[in-house]
Amino acid sequence: MSAPALDVLALAAHRDDVEQTCGGTLLRMAGRGLRTGILDLTQGEMGTRGSADDRAREAADAARILKASFRQALDIPDGRVENSWENRLKIARVIREQRPRVLILPYWKGRHPDHYTASTLGYEAAFLAGLRKLGNTPGSSTGAAAEALAQLAPHRPFKIIYASVYYDVRPSFVVDITDQFEVRLQALMAYKSQYADQSAGSGLFPQEKEIRSRLESMASFYGLLAGVKYAEPFVQKEVGLVDDITAIPVSSI
Ligand SMILES: [Zn+2]
Repeated sequence: MSAPALDVLALAAHRDDVEQTCGGTLLRMAGRGLRTGILDLTQGEMGTRGSADDRAREAADAARILKASFRQALDIPDGRVENSWENRLKIARVIREQRPRVLILPYWKGRHPDHYTASTLGYEAAFLAGLRKLGNTPGSSTGAAAEALAQLAPHRPFKIIYASVYYDVRPSFVVDITDQFEVRLQALMAYKSQYADQSAGSGLFPQEKEIRSRLESMASFYGLLAGVKYAEPFVQKEVGLVDDITAIPVSSI
């Protein structure tokens, strides 16, 4: 076993998705001494501006800014994220290697097919990662990827939550990112080839001021729902379990 297990792993289709959907939350968790990580499914080669190499450098900068202990990009084609057996194996391998307790996935509905496909793909990969006999069933033709996976101990995240800021849905809960907002914005601005003010492709990408104002509006909206300045929204499928009803946060009246 190499690195210690991650407390939180955030999975997303594209480099810079995590910065927009749950970067403040990752930063907040890192601030509490937890180990966080990011798994990007694609390398961003379809982006209007900059190359995949530019994106790789920028993603590493952004990860440092977010204090993430781990970041990796898979080689799934950008714009063609498919819920295939092969892709599930690739993600399951990272889950077994990093052993996260909490997995953050994109919300399962949205405008971009890569985003909503990444949600189901991530869930099914997490399920697969926990199957004890995966890849070592005698006589099965599971292939080299499954055999490599079989060398690693099975692991399933305890908790899966869905980052929902890209879709208009009422969150199950929000995370207060008031203290993390500015640094999260810096992490997004690390994608200079995509976001810095420049002429190529202008009209497609809002410039820095507009990005700030858009992020502020979204974070304020979700913050307002919980009585804090800025927040990031999440959906969970399970019901909440309460130990002490006198300690439930967010005032009702
Ligand atoms: Zn995206």
